[in-house]
Amino acid sequence: MADVFIGSCNVGLGLFAARAFGAGERILDFEGPERSDPRDGSPAECNLLQLDVGRYMLPNPPGLFVNHSCAPNAALVGGLSLVATRPIAAYEEVRFDYSTSMLEDPWQMECACGEPGCRGVVEEFGLLPRDDQRRFLAAGHVPDFIAERYARARHEDPAIAVGAW
Ligand SMILES: [Zn+2]
Repeated sequence: MADVFIGSCNVGLGLFAARAFGAGERILDFEGPERSDPRDGSPAECNLLQLDVGRYMLPNPPGLFVNHSCAPNAALVGGLSLVATRPIAAYEEVRFDYSTSMLEDPWQMECACGEPGCRGVVEEFGLLPRDDQRRFLAAGHVPDFIAERYARARHEDPAIAVGAW
């Protein structure tokens, strides 16, 4: 039996748990072809996963269908693995915070996650509130290329707000 399935949600299609997952459990690894020119105005651009500065992946299903949430139940670990951040029940939709994996100001998209704490917009990690940046970094939910950029910015001038990258 598959661990996940594709189903309908409030923003179209989404990825759902087919069984319960424990906190910290890996749900899937993103796989797919690389794209170098990501933001071409097509609907697919919202589905790209950033691998590094100027490098993107268009995930194959089922990873393609993982939506963003401002109050997610999963996170991207090691840049490619989707991991539960709290217990997830069977038939619950699985989402992560896209801003943890984006370093490409000024690209953004309107957020329709519908969570009470919704930020209203999905934009790069450098533009997140400082407390959110620290929380995601401490949890290991930020890909290396962004964490290294953050560390460099902080090292060069600790007074600089990372949002000013
Ligand atoms: Zn939101």
